[in-house]
Amino acid sequence: MKVSIDRSNCTSCSTCWETCPAFFEENPDDSFSQVIEKFRSAGNPAEGTAPEDLDACVTEAADLCPVQIIKVENS
Ligand code: SF4
Repeated sequence: MKVSIDRSNCTSCSTCWETCPAFFEENPDDSFSQVIEKFRSAGNPAEGTAPEDLDACVTEAADLCPVQIIKVENS
């Protein structure tokens, strides 16, 4: 599943990285959400590909994001 985060609109609420810490984390510099390094696409912290076993938790995190800035697309 392809995942993108509109990081500039992240409120650092922590919901996504608490819901799915295997895929999302807090960036230590700007405190916005980012994709953990091993799942990033071309090193971009705002885009990545989730393995199938993380589909459920990534989808849950996207659903729970209060500002709805995590987009998921089945690939
Ligand atoms: S749930 Fe949304 S607003 Fe909250 S930290 Fe994650 S991306 Fe940012």
